[in-house]
Amino acid sequence: MSASHVTIAEEEYLQTLFWLQEAGLPMTAANVARAMQLSPPTVHEMIVRLERDGYIERTASKSISFTPSGLEHAEGIVRRHRLIERFLTDVLAIPWDEVHEEAERLEHAMSPVLEARMLAAIGDAKTCPHGHPIDVGTRIDGVPLADVEEGASVRILRFENEAEDLLHYLKAAGVEPGLEGRLAARDEDGEVVVSASTGARVAVTRSVAETVSVVADPSPPPRTALPEQLVLAQEKYGR
Ligand SMILES: [Zn+2]
Ligand SMILES: [Zn+2]
Repeated sequence: MSASHVTIAEEEYLQTLFWLQEAGLPMTAANVARAMQLSPPTVHEMIVRLERDGYIERTASKSISFTPSGLEHAEGIVRRHRLIERFLTDVLAIPWDEVHEEAERLEHAMSPVLEARMLAAIGDAKTCPHGHPIDVGTRIDGVPLADVEEGASVRILRFENEAEDLLHYLKAAGVEPGLEGRLAARDEDGEVVVSASTGARVAVTRSVAETVSVVADPSPPPRTALPEQLVLAQEKYGR
């Protein structure tokens, strides 16, 4: 039950594997390499280590699954990451586009006592400031903003990619989870424009709209994101 033997690097990989699983993507070394932007040999080495240490299992077809211990660690690190982000925005008043990298650092060094105190401090908040559930496993299905047809009503659910340069862009564009409105325009190679119920008009590039999950009515068919569009940090802590 102790996390004392899991290394920071292992936690980072377990976190990425969990993001893949949560997004409905196959848990494979190839997808981990895409999501973490690391070379396949680097990832292979760590996957072997995670298997040796009893956190994951691999089938003959190379697909990865968590062991009970691996899942517990993965859920713990993901939960702490999101909790820390919410604490930083709501309690310390740090802008939501500046908390992901801080959480990447703090999530590895947090005692259960501090976690409980932080949870109490955020009140009834249920997600990180980017829309991901702190109580992992309560994720709401969404569709990419890029797929929504003109005229449909939309509510922004979450940002699938938390790279901070992307978060800076989204904040500057006026997009945030919970924003409601109508899809005003969608150009083939240009921008996706939402006219918000607040009267604001927010526009993002089509490639960014691929990483923004929404609930829409009428809704386009479900589509999973690509692994490259998930997570992740620019900095490589112990990877
Ligand atoms: Zn984050
Ligand atoms: Zn977040």
